[in-house]
Amino acid sequence: MKRVYIETFGCQMNVSDSERIATSLSKNGYQMTSDEADADVVILNTCSVRERAEHKLYTRVGEIRHSGRKKPVVGITGCVAQLDGETLFDKIAGVDFVMGTRATGRVVNIVDAAFTQRKRLVDLNEREDEYDWTVADTHRHSPYVAFVPIIEGCNKFCTYCIVPFSRGREKSLPATEIVAQVEKLKSSGVKEVHLIGQNVNSYRPTSNEGLDGFEGKSAFTRLLRAVAATGMDRIKFTTSFPRDFRDEIVDAIEENENLCNWVHLPVQSGSDRILERMKRGHTISRYKEKIDRIKKSHRNIALTTDIIIGFPGETEQDFEDTVSLFEYCEYDSAYIFKYSPRPGTPAYEMEDDVTPADKTLRFLKLQETQKKIEQRIHQRYLKQVLNVLVEGRSVRTENGYTGHSTCHKVVNFVSDEASLGEVRNVRITEIKSNSLFGEVAR
Ligand code: SF4
Repeated sequence: MKRVYIETFGCQMNVSDSERIATSLSKNGYQMTSDEADADVVILNTCSVRERAEHKLYTRVGEIRHSGRKKPVVGITGCVAQLDGETLFDKIAGVDFVMGTRATGRVVNIVDAAFTQRKRLVDLNEREDEYDWTVADTHRHSPYVAFVPIIEGCNKFCTYCIVPFSRGREKSLPATEIVAQVEKLKSSGVKEVHLIGQNVNSYRPTSNEGLDGFEGKSAFTRLLRAVAATGMDRIKFTTSFPRDFRDEIVDAIEENENLCNWVHLPVQSGSDRILERMKRGHTISRYKEKIDRIKKSHRNIALTTDIIIGFPGETEQDFEDTVSLFEYCEYDSAYIFKYSPRPGTPAYEMEDDVTPADKTLRFLKLQETQKKIEQRIHQRYLKQVLNVLVEGRSVRTENGYTGHSTCHKVVNFVSDEASLGEVRNVRITEIKSNSLFGEVAR
């Protein structure tokens, strides 16, 4: 039996794709291995959002080729594969096949062919209609947490982003299929699902089937309610796009305890001028209105964001506006990135005029601001009881466990009696920089 090692870079959608690739190969006579040295096939599932992720790929293929072990078949899939196609054969020596983001349903054909045909193989074609979105329990990244794609691709074309090119246009999955998947996951012991997509609020299936009878102006809100009605313990969703984020989403969270109290709402800049250059389609005042609604909720909704520092044309004042926005929003956490131009995007044609030194200074300043905000926010969790899904053993403490709260905080705690996969009430007793510590509440 041939063994396959898959390495995944990037976002949850890539993790989910890798899970389905593993499911499909296992059903067809291949065996997954976590030992790269033992593999007959190495698949690198790539990300092109950041320059560094792309460079890592080149390094990894080099390492695999020069490791001195048996030479495995090497395949590149994911966003870099979709964008670069067969040019990858020239860029990186030792690649046997290139498979685009929508070709994962044909992975068995391409891997089989790589063993029988002595030629380079490429599949960048569209997804087949009958594509199977399910993941076998054994190939999920966690036995208790599952990613459920609800929409793929993006139509927004923010000027810095490569996703609409690497993942194609938006395509929503039928609600009936999503709900059936969640029900199946529930019966196999999964406690938390993440409804995922580049922009989940744009969810717009071709048919209303499965959504009828659920309240909401947008299909996404109706879907949230339909998924909540399955009785799945915890439901999270990501990523939301500010322009499409409606107040009724917060209404749905307030009405359904199993819709978790966490919203990830990337703003990318605190300056209207830069948002316009980014073609984000929203203003800071509209964004703040949405934040106000979220903050007003009795569910204590945790708020996280993504931000780009040093976008072309960003002045000191634009940056200061971002710092002010952070103070206003009091994010629970923020992913702060320094801008790097991605070939093929409109922003690539703009002058990258913020110097690397200024990008670093602004990055450090915003990081420091966010650190102080987090310290403030985390103090609010002290003595609170959080509902934690026990996802693993903590390596640092005996009888230590780790998991996420409904508000998506990492919580570590010590217990003699907790079991993996259980949901526990944990009283927070200590705050550390990136996580909370506590004890099981009696
Ligand atoms: S919404 Fe903008 S940033 Fe997000 S995936 Fe689409 S184009 Fe990229």
